[in-house]
Amino acid sequence: MSNVYCPKVQRLLSQRLLSQSPTSTKMIELKNIERYYPTGSLKTYVLRYVNAHIAEGEFVSIMGPSGSGKSTLLHILGMLDEPTDGEFWFLGEAVHKFNERRRTEMYREYIGFVFQAYHLIDDLTVYENLETPLLYKKVPSAERKSRIADLLDRFNMVAKKDLFPSQLSGGQQQLVGVARALIGRPKLILADEPTGNLQSPQAKEIMEVFKTLNKEDGVTIVQVTHSEENAKYGNRILHLKDGRVENEELVKH
Ligand code: ADP
Ligand code: MG
Repeated sequence: MSNVYCPKVQRLLSQRLLSQSPTSTKMIELKNIERYYPTGSLKTYVLRYVNAHIAEGEFVSIMGPSGSGKSTLLHILGMLDEPTDGEFWFLGEAVHKFNERRRTEMYREYIGFVFQAYHLIDDLTVYENLETPLLYKKVPSAERKSRIADLLDRFNMVAKKDLFPSQLSGGQQQLVGVARALIGRPKLILADEPTGNLQSPQAKEIMEVFKTLNKEDGVTIVQVTHSEENAKYGNRILHLKDGRVENEELVKH
């Protein structure tokens, strides 16, 4: 595919990708999403004409070089950032028309986000970090305790529950970040390099957890990854380059 930027060609290519998308129930629809930052009198484009569909129950991997816009795209999907232009439809709702408060509500209701840089709350313990999303969702106390105990156990972190993030290694913080994304039982998990700081057995375990959630509970997953092996856990791989979806690959299982 040509690297020369031409809006008309991009639009046509995007529409072609769009028409190849699965026809099952749509969870996410992106139409000509653009994101730029003003730098002086110029615009620095981070995303250009991104068109994509993600059906409920899909597991999509996003790959691409550093700086290609992967995190920006994931933050937009997570309603943590807004596109500068274009439309974002989520479960039939026009997110691009939402105010910040409505986006936050939707985020809390539907989304679990694994951040590239963990984003744990420094002055809360591991246990409290995991509890926070459940408090927002008004999950009763006994249920909170059992869900937290279950995840701490699954990720071998029971002994760490009263420690603060600064007392954990990068890999352990990553695991807490993953556990926190799962605890609210979201419909959509967005994970930005969720295994970036993990040893390979731990990384494999996270991928297997995602696979089970996707296959058995129908949770939709979108992950950013640099690992070909992890990307293949998905049913589709979107390759991003210079803020555009360069191509889309279907994974045969
Ligand atoms: P990736 O996750 O693929 O590495 P990002 O989405 O983090 O890429 O960033 C894409 C591009 O956007 C990078 O070139 C980055 O420098 C730029 N960028 C991100 N945030 C800002 C900002 N606040 N102002 C200007 N440029 C930014
Ligand atoms: Mg990134």
